Amino acid sequence: MAEATESESRKLLRRLRDALADDSAGQARLDRITSIIAESMETEVCSIYLFRDPDTLELCATEGLRAEAVHQTRMRLGEGLVGRVARLGRIINAADAPSERGFRYMPETGEEIYSSFLGVPIQRLGEKLGVLVVQSKIAREYSDDEIYALEVVAMVLAEMTELGAFTGEGAALSARHQHPVLIRGTIGQEGTAEGNVWLHEPRVVVTNPIAEDPDRETERLTAAVEKLRVTVDDMLDGAQTGDKDQREVLETYRMFAHSRGWLRRMCEDIGRGLSAEAAVEKEQSSARARLQKAPDAYMRERLSDLDDLSRRLLRILTGQGRETGAEMPPNPILVARSIGPGELLDYGRTLRGIVLEQGSVGSHAAIVARALAIPLVIHARGITTEALNGDHIVVDGEQGNVHLRPEDNIIAAFRDKIAMQAKAQERYADLRTLPATTLCGTNVALTMNAGLMADLPSLQGSGAEGVGLFRTELQFLARAAVPRRGDLAALYSRVLDAAEGKPVTFRTLDIGSDKVLPYMKRPDEPNPALGWRAIRVGLDRTGIMRMQLQALIRAANGRPLKVMFPFVAQLDEFHQARRHLLEEMEREDKLGRILPSSLEIGAMLETPSLAFAPRQFFEMADFISIGGNDLKQFFFAADRENERVRRRYDTLNVSFLTLIEMIVKRCDEVGTPLSFCGEDAGRPVEAICLSAMGIRSLSMRPASIGPVKHLLRRIDLGEARGVIDGSCRSGVQSVRADVMEWLGRSLTQG
Ligand code: PEP
Ligand code: MG
Repeated sequence: MAEATESESRKLLRRLRDALADDSAGQARLDRITSIIAESMETEVCSIYLFRDPDTLELCATEGLRAEAVHQTRMRLGEGLVGRVARLGRIINAADAPSERGFRYMPETGEEIYSSFLGVPIQRLGEKLGVLVVQSKIAREYSDDEIYALEVVAMVLAEMTELGAFTGEGAALSARHQHPVLIRGTIGQEGTAEGNVWLHEPRVVVTNPIAEDPDRETERLTAAVEKLRVTVDDMLDGAQTGDKDQREVLETYRMFAHSRGWLRRMCEDIGRGLSAEAAVEKEQSSARARLQKAPDAYMRERLSDLDDLSRRLLRILTGQGRETGAEMPPNPILVARSIGPGELLDYGRTLRGIVLEQGSVGSHAAIVARALAIPLVIHARGITTEALNGDHIVVDGEQGNVHLRPEDNIIAAFRDKIAMQAKAQERYADLRTLPATTLCGTNVALTMNAGLMADLPSLQGSGAEGVGLFRTELQFLARAAVPRRGDLAALYSRVLDAAEGKPVTFRTLDIGSDKVLPYMKRPDEPNPALGWRAIRVGLDRTGIMRMQLQALIRAANGRPLKVMFPFVAQLDEFHQARRHLLEEMEREDKLGRILPSSLEIGAMLETPSLAFAPRQFFEMADFISIGGNDLKQFFFAADRENERVRRRYDTLNVSFLTLIEMIVKRCDEVGTPLSFCGEDAGRPVEAICLSAMGIRSLSMRPASIGPVKHLLRRIDLGEARGVIDGSCRSGVQSVRADVMEWLGRSLTQG
């Protein structure tokens, strides 16, 4: 075999490029490529195996093995040497393949006469596409240069596979990203949607893996790396020094970005004929293989940082950013690794569904999705690598499943399901004008949560008795600068108009934690959820809070006004916030403006401390609303955004219900109205239990009102309370099982 010198490898790449450039069909191209590689590397066999589906590899072209085996020989991921190369994502170089661990003889290929085996993975940005193999009769290990040459070729094949160069007529092989894929995730927001993929961060496409002019490519690469370094340094400078995780990631970025070895290896790849882009990808794949082998778990965890950094570099090189100029497809379904609430609001209601690779049910992005009533599936592993812009996709937010490029029978079943849901909604619509009165004659007021003007039509459609929580931060998050008082007043006024006299409870700005305003410098905090957020910001920076309060007073303009302050942790905070509002009332009065006809000032109870506040707090508040999302996270010390811990604690946990009971009692003692506006209010079983504990007002997303009302009207709260009390006494951790059992019995009897 010839030494794969630089010029040899460049010659090989040039021949490959010519083979790829002619317009023969995919299979013919693959066949030619295997013979070019075998010839130039002077081996008897060269074969290309590509993934048929995520678990199966198929022999797609060969020079040297039996032609009949092409498209017949298949192996599962991890099976045989080829399957192992694919699974491990690293090369296998064996002088005596049959004695190698994992070897599996494929009789139909006639490979028994070949002793040596070199297999390299065909992969792109961590995505496995196939395996490239050379074999020869004499027993010998392949040299480092030969391995390198084959890796470079595999890199080019990865790019071309990605671009669909090997599909089309004559090729029994179907292209990547064409098979149906089912991804099981977690429910973020119920609902179903059918549409087309819109990638939040489009895949970087490299169309020129082979380049002629190494000097020019080196220049392009050096300039891009320099730009990347500056960006990473800027990110580090701008980062919060206290946020350990963020700093750690950025430090790793910096380590990679400034690594001389990284740049040198990429320049060497260019020297061997790759374009700058292909060199980035090649080094990314090699580093991935190295890191995967690392005994240190910390280093292995850095893989995703490296992927991210390589993607950034590729974007700089190709100029393919988020703004690619591509048009959103009709019925867009957003696919992303993760997304912030502000970014989601930018898309607004144009989206039909959202699928995230990461994310959490308790995050504000999920709450925004809920506010927008957009079905959301989170933890959809691999979706961003599998999906392409425009792919047909079905989001089943009821099951937490995503069907990418679904087959016709799945689509049909799915459409049936949507039709059935529409029927159920019709049933709920019949209840719209009826009150949520239980069998024992108790009325529970059902109101809705809102945050956008566009939510208001649901007020009539859902039968909500008012807006129990209007999250005002959504307008602040969706803009590039602080909204003006006049604009806010106009918006709040339109909200009151649309409510047509039904009560609306405006919650003042609740920012901080994961709700980051793009125009406000993020404070330097190690734990934002426990940090400077909501009322704490309002009381320290009174300018914005007062401006918002003025806007609310002006919007009311002679109508009743209900304002509630979020995240109050102690009496004094409520006292101060209330004073600001009363002072603004005085000032507006002096300015001769029309004051609200009535003013109610409430507090959200979302920290356990407030449940134990002095009696004066409960007397001072005109109403109290339990923010169950936050209250639960602080009560159980379990981050609402961390799925691993969040799900450990049931809302129907005896301790939590005991806390609710105490809050109900403290409010009852002083006659202060109490409501519950966390997400749990919209879950029928939870809603029944909260009502049974004495809460008479529940605020939820509009789509939940029908199901909650339907169930409330069929049960007796006294009986429910009896079951809960009995369950609590029995020593269980959660009353859920007993309540479900009772519900099953009483609903079938009824
Ligand atoms: C809550 O914490 O329950 C709540 C309603 O507020 P948010 O979800 O906006 O923090
Ligand atoms: Mg809250």
